Parts: sequence; structure tokens; C-alpha cells
Amino acid sequence: MQIKKLITYCTGGIRCEKFSGWLVKEGFKDVGQLHGGIVTYGQDPEVQGELWDGQLYVFDERIGIPVNQKEHVIVGKDYFSDEPCERYVNCANPFCNKKILCSEENEHKYMRSCSHECRTHERNRYVKQHNLTEQEVAVRLQLIEQEVQVH
Ligand SMILES: [Zn+2]
Repeated sequence: MQIKKLITYCTGGIRCEKFSGWLVKEGFKDVGQLHGGIVTYGQDPEVQGELWDGQLYVFDERIGIPVNQKEHVIVGKDYFSDEPCERYVNCANPFCNKKILCSEENEHKYMRSCSHECRTHERNRYVKQHNLTEQEVAVRLQLIEQEVQVH
């Protein structure tokens, strides 16, 4: 394998600093890095993060932060409809808790659950939060089933 040039980058520029140092130690000669990471790249007054598409995933309550100040491109897709989406929710089944992208509309339509099994789980948090009766859940499940048959 012939590698001419390597560039490393990370969120804040600390992990890639360590990684590029390790790469040099391993014998890679032309190793560059994005100083200050993606966050600094987005804040740079000249480039304004212009080559970045989508949001930057962060591990706090913000979940995603914008980087590109010139043109915001949505790269995520709604779990249910495949429409462009960058809104994260956790599956309402506490034993699944899968992080999925979905619009507010689809969150309600699919009871914030990633599968039929999760929608009908006895501990479903969406059902509890919205005080849905068994009958209301049954109606929603029926609507979803009809949707599946149409497509
Ligand atoms: Zn699930």
C-alpha cells in the first residue's frame, strides 16, 4: 500500500494530535492534521467550515452542532421516510433505546419506536408519556400496517 499523504482530524484537535504522532512513529512520513479540529474549522472566519456537510455529533445534550456557516447541508435521513432529517430521538422501548433520526411527525406516527416489537413493548415510554390507552395504541398500529400495505 502506497500512501502519499495522510490527514487526521477530530472534533477538538486533541485525539488527532495523538493519532498523527503515532502515525509518524509508525513510519508514515507525510502526516498532517486539522489544527483545533472541526470545531475550530467551523469557527474560522475565512473558511467558515465550508467543506463540511451535516452537523457535528457531540456527546452532550446538544447532540449535533452546526459547522458549515456558509451552506448547511443535511446528510441524515429520517428512519421511517428517508426524507432529509437531523433530529435524533431514542427508541421508546427502554430495552432498545436505539438512536434514530426522525421528524416530529413520524415520532408521533410511529410512537417513537424503531420496530413493531418496540412499539408493542409493555414498557414503551412513548405510550406512557402520552397516556395512550390500549385502544389508541391499536388504532395507531393499524394505521402503520395500512401504510406498509400501500407501499
Ligand atoms: Zn427499538
